[in-house]
Amino acid sequence: MRTSTSVAILGGGASGLTLARTLVDLGFTRIVVFEREAEVGGKSCTIDIDGRPHDLGATMGVPIDYRHVQRFSREANLATTPFPIEQHYRLAEGREVSPDPRTLPRVLAQAAAYVAMHARSWRGDLHRADPQLFAPWSEVVERHGLGDASRRMLCYRTGYGYGFDDEVPAVMYASLIRPQTLLGLAVGSPFMWRTGTQPIWKALATRLSCQIEVRTATPVTRIVRDGGVVVYSRGRRERFDRLAIACDPRSVLGILDGNAAERRWFSQVRTYPYSTFACEVEGLAPGRESVGYIDDNMSRDRVGHPMAWVKRYANQDIYVFHLFAPADLRDAELTRRIAGDVERLGGRLVSVRASRRWDFFPHFPSAFMRAGGLAEIDQWQGHRHTYLIGEVLSFATMARVSEHAVGFAHRMARESTGVTATARMAS
Ligand SMILES: Cc1cc2nc3c(=O)[nH]c(=O)nc-3n(C[C@H](O)[C@H](O)[C@H](O)COP(=O)(O)OP(=O)(O)OC[C@H]3O[C@@H](n4cnc5c(N)ncnc54)[C@H](O)[C@@H]3O)c2cc1C
Repeated sequence: MRTSTSVAILGGGASGLTLARTLVDLGFTRIVVFEREAEVGGKSCTIDIDGRPHDLGATMGVPIDYRHVQRFSREANLATTPFPIEQHYRLAEGREVSPDPRTLPRVLAQAAAYVAMHARSWRGDLHRADPQLFAPWSEVVERHGLGDASRRMLCYRTGYGYGFDDEVPAVMYASLIRPQTLLGLAVGSPFMWRTGTQPIWKALATRLSCQIEVRTATPVTRIVRDGGVVVYSRGRRERFDRLAIACDPRSVLGILDGNAAERRWFSQVRTYPYSTFACEVEGLAPGRESVGYIDDNMSRDRVGHPMAWVKRYANQDIYVFHLFAPADLRDAELTRRIAGDVERLGGRLVSVRASRRWDFFPHFPSAFMRAGGLAEIDQWQGHRHTYLIGEVLSFATMARVSEHAVGFAHRMARESTGVTATARMAS
């Protein structure tokens, strides 16, 4: 069914583009995606080093779990390749280490207990979860006796920038690791895209451009809601029926005519300063693809040290290191720390080829969730013509933000029935 309801989408990352695509599928024809950067993709950021793609942001996917993302990548004929074998390293020992096999039965039993807890407590959305999941993950681990399994998975939380167990609400990690994620890992292996992840979103934007407008290099500088939505960008003033915020809502505080509740909610968002460094390294994992986790760097006292690396190609010695990167640690200091740790593991940092800083993993804190903040936001959705989607209400992976956007497109379509198309897109 075609609808003339017009929608402004703020952000051309995985969330905004999935929303746009689903709304188009549902019959929306008047959509503009606003992206401030020169290219779409947001945290799916792929660069070229010596003729080969490397991801500085989103990298890997999991079978079954990445349904929508895989649909888009299949439509664009983008092939995947297995994620390299993951290995753990300890600086203290200066070498690769294997998990203690004696803990395996406990890990498996605890994984089963986690799945059972998930089935009881996760109700399909962050705000619907059992409130005990609003506690920090470490409290939930303690209460349910999940310590061994949790330690085994630390690399997928802290190691990839998803914060610290004593801070991050358990519901966020419950959103990351679902039974379907474990099933996907049991029946297949994690994968990455041969082209990197950004081309998935560039290809989707290109296909969408036949039907709607996807405007890059177009930062939205002001939004006023006055019976509709007025969006200001690059000297233009345009009117829409609906606004979808598809980026970190804290970053729109300065441009949105937020009321007291919106300002209170959005200012609660927390992130960690994070960074990825693509480096040429000799001797660490020569002649093979490699994913390495430096387990003893995954703690607060080791912030600024590399926790994980991805080496995509056997015959190219480029390693993308992942690390927390507080603003007071300059790139030179981070480089020094990477070099020192690489050396302790028997390698040599030759040069830094590219780096990128991120405000990563936007999420609401436990206190906000416990005070009912998520439920308040859910009730507000659609009021003042505005919807919020993305990482803070799902989790910071392409899979989670995409499925969240698909769900919201359906909700917007239901709630748009009967909307008078007051909007006139005028320049
Ligand atoms: C280092 C790193 C590694 C990661 N690894 C993985 C991984 O392996 N697998 C995985 O699935 N996910 C991974 N992720 C997470 C994943 O990339 C993100 O969760 C997902 O891409 C978020 O998409 P989004 O559209 O919600 O937000 P974003 O990608 O942040 O997109 C928001 C967009 O809004 C734009 N914007 C903001 N303000 C304005 C404005 N005023 N006007 C116009 N545009 C604006 C921004 O420029 C941006 O493009 C990783 C992320 C990082 C940083």
